[in-house]
Amino acid sequence: MQHFDGNLLAGPLADVFAFDPTGARARCNGCGAVAELATMLVYRSGAGSVARCRDCGAVLLSLVDGDGRMFVNFIGMGAIEIATTGRDDA
Ligand SMILES: [Zn+2]
Repeated sequence: MQHFDGNLLAGPLADVFAFDPTGARARCNGCGAVAELATMLVYRSGAGSVARCRDCGAVLLSLVDGDGRMFVNFIGMGAIEIATTGRDDA
């Protein structure tokens, strides 16, 4: 199968990260609950944040922001459902 470099995903990834994703929905890998990202329980410490599932407490994502860079790990969630219609930029 032919492959491409990551630049092929520039458009789709820009769509993913160029808006406020808190209205997007994701499934918790721990308990299967599906909820909007805005419902996660977020714990901040220093330059980092950890977001946990409201239902089971599993870590859904971690985010570290500092020194001009940001690291995001969506470690505890499955696919993120993002509406592509009805957005202001759609
Ligand atoms: Zn859960």
